[in-house]
Amino acid sequence: MKDNYDIETIINITGEDFNQEHGAVVPAIYQSSIFARASYEDIEDYFENKNGYLYSRTKNPTNDILEQKLAVLANAESALTFASGMGAISSAIMHYVNANDHIICVNNLYNPAMTFISKDLANKYAVEYTVVEGDSIEEFENAIKENTKLIYLESPSTAVFKMQDIEKIVELAKKYNIKTIIDNTWATPLFQRCIEMGIDLEVHSLSKYLNGHSDVVGGCVLGKMKDIEEIRNSQLAQFGAKLGPFEAFLVIRGLRTLVARLNIHTASTKKIVEFLDNHNKVVKVMHPLSISYAQKDLAKKQLLNYTGLLSFELDAKSLKDVQCFINELKLFRIGVSWGGHESLVFAPNIAILNEMSIEQAKKLNVSPYTIRISVGLEGVNDLINDLKNALDKI
Ligand SMILES: *Cc1c(COP(=O)(O)O)cnc(C)c1O
Repeated sequence: MKDNYDIETIINITGEDFNQEHGAVVPAIYQSSIFARASYEDIEDYFENKNGYLYSRTKNPTNDILEQKLAVLANAESALTFASGMGAISSAIMHYVNANDHIICVNNLYNPAMTFISKDLANKYAVEYTVVEGDSIEEFENAIKENTKLIYLESPSTAVFKMQDIEKIVELAKKYNIKTIIDNTWATPLFQRCIEMGIDLEVHSLSKYLNGHSDVVGGCVLGKMKDIEEIRNSQLAQFGAKLGPFEAFLVIRGLRTLVARLNIHTASTKKIVEFLDNHNKVVKVMHPLSISYAQKDLAKKQLLNYTGLLSFELDAKSLKDVQCFINELKLFRIGVSWGGHESLVFAPNIAILNEMSIEQAKKLNVSPYTIRISVGLEGVNDLINDLKNALDKI
């Protein structure tokens, strides 16, 4: 029956049972760590059959509602929520990778994910890894070794917005019996259908568009029931990066407006990209809607629509121009993260120089004059005027 409904309807009604909630149109928050049982036999039954609830580290009714909504949104069998996007990412990787295994990952990954692979896993568990640019399928094939267990993708990436051809990579991975994980936070499951393209696990930061109100840090893993239950009983149970029920409630609230919010983010971003593309103080715009975007064909094939995080390179003479531009903005708040109601601006160079060696930084190919903005829900004319004023000052 649900198949006949629009996605907005499906997100809104999935997981909710009004008869259980006294008619409340908003589900209750089960702010309880423990779910007690009526008898010895009853609690014994939980341990034997895992039916119902026992302890909120691994299962809670409020999280369950959110997880059902996330799963239908991505057309995944199942979903599991975490206390952060990184909680979800590290758990998903640990699920597939053992000591001495090899991971192929793409350049320009979300930096903490790259650090998890290149420092934590490499140093503690002798995990090997190869970083590929990700432009061609041959690069992936050439990087495959006997112990390759995982290809880890992020498409588009969130500093320079490079994409990878998901269908081709999945085909290659299946041929060699290698698992695939993708960080699909930028596009959201609405605009990039990774599970339908055959990806094994899709990971998200809920802190971005999925919640969308900049009041929750959270994450999720989406995939097959078997994988999700194994992650629940292993990584979630043992590392314990559990999303609290109150945060789950807030993300349920956030998801109800996902389609409506993204409609505005996308429409405003189209106008802002066009404005930046035509401004003489802007060298290039890094976003699939830009006229100078290098992977237009892949973007058309793989993305159903485009979200509002983008970078552009200023025609700057020195870092002073970057500083001046950022400080002149009135509506764009200066900060990291993205995907919320508020417009944000950041210079990735600040993080790059402080979080990695010069050698690593060079490999990322991010110009020090790169500006990253998250287009919020304010009036787009106001945002364009704000950008225009700041560009005029450099
Ligand atoms: C923010 C972000 C993450 C990490 O999510 P947290 O909720 O901050 O842990 C992972 N991937 C991408 C692309 C992100 O932007």
